[in-house]
Order: sequence, then C-alpha cells, then structure tokens
Amino acid sequence: MTNRGKLIVVSAPSGAGKTTIVRYLLGAGLNLEFSVSACSRAPRPGEKNGKDYYFISKDEFREKIDNKEFLEWEEVYPGSYYGTLLSELEKIWNSGKHVIFDVDVVGGLKLKEKLPERCLSIFIMPPSVEELEKRLMNRSTEKDTEIEKRIGKAVKELGYSPKFDAIIVNTDLEKAKSEAKSLVRSYLAN
Ligand code: 5GP
Repeated sequence: MTNRGKLIVVSAPSGAGKTTIVRYLLGAGLNLEFSVSACSRAPRPGEKNGKDYYFISKDEFREKIDNKEFLEWEEVYPGSYYGTLLSELEKIWNSGKHVIFDVDVVGGLKLKEKLPERCLSIFIMPPSVEELEKRLMNRSTEKDTEIEKRIGKAVKELGYSPKFDAIIVNTDLEKAKSEAKSLVRSYLAN
C-alpha cells in the first residue's frame, strides 16, 4: 500500500452528530476526501451508490473479504457488513488528498490500529444518553426496533471513548465543528 496521505477517523455512537461534523470538515478547505465504505445493507431513500456507500450484496462482500480487499470490515449490525476498501484509500491518496472516515466506534479503533502513525482518531461524544435517544427518535428513517438496537449499541460505545486520540463533546454543534477543524488542521500540518 502506498503510504502518502493521512487518515482522519471520526467515530461516535449513531446520533451523536458525527456525520454533520464530517460534512463540515470536508468543506473546510483541509484537503480531505471522504472514504466511501462498502456495505451490504439496502440503500435508504436518497442514498446513491458510490457517494454514500458502495452498495454490494452479502456474497460480493464476502468475496472481497476473501480477496483481502478491505483495510478493515465489520458486521456492524447482525447481517449488515460495512468495510473500507483498500482501493478507495489508494484512489484518494493518489489524488494528493487525506482521507476522512465516518465509521462506527469499533471500526474507528480498527483503522487507528492498522495505521497508527498516520491516523488521528476523534470521538464525538453526545452531551448525554437522554439527548442521544432524543436525536435518534427524531430521525424518521428508522423503525422503533432499529432505534432500540442503536441506543443499546451507543451506550456500549461510549465506554470506548478513552481509546481515541481526542474527544469532542457535541453540546453546541458550532463549537464542536470549530474544535474539530482546529484539531484536524494542526494534525495535518505536522
Ligand atoms: P448506517 O447504516 O447508519 O449508514 O451505518 C451504520 C454504521 O456503520 C455507522 O455507525 C457507520 O459509521 C458504520 N460504518 C460505515 N462505514 C463503515 C466501515 O467502513 N467500517 C465500519 N467498521 N463501520 C462503518
């Protein structure tokens, strides 16, 4: 693997605001490009193949695991596989950019473990579990059982936060965004 660019990993329990922060960082002039993961779940309304994810079947996913095409992969929810393709990293690094990831907590730690010396891992912390539940309830795309699954997973994930390079508490979104931007900027400058 060519090793020129750096990796910025942004992880958080679902509903903590990481996707908003990642989108902000992408537009903040930091020379970052989003790593599109492969996943085996069906696209949600509005999601585009190659932009939000590479939507592939479970069989294709398993084939790629066997062919060692992933830097990391995980069964994030029972039956739903997600992973980072090595080809995606190569593509971004070859274009002279750094890679930013929006992955779940376990995936984030795995990425940090794979390339520790060129990776900044950031944990986005919700202000409280109650607030996290509220945010997940307000998302209309998920069913109740899906929300319960995500809350259970989220509570467990909070326990992993000390393993990250930095923690940003997302009480005030604007503050969280600017904190993330200065962290990333100084990491990329060194
Ligand atoms: P969703 O189905 O809501 O898009 O994503 C479910 C979870 O999978 C999210 O927490 C998301 O960050 C995580 N995820 C997305 N891509 C990857 C990946 O490449 N690897 C891992 N381990 N998790 C991922």
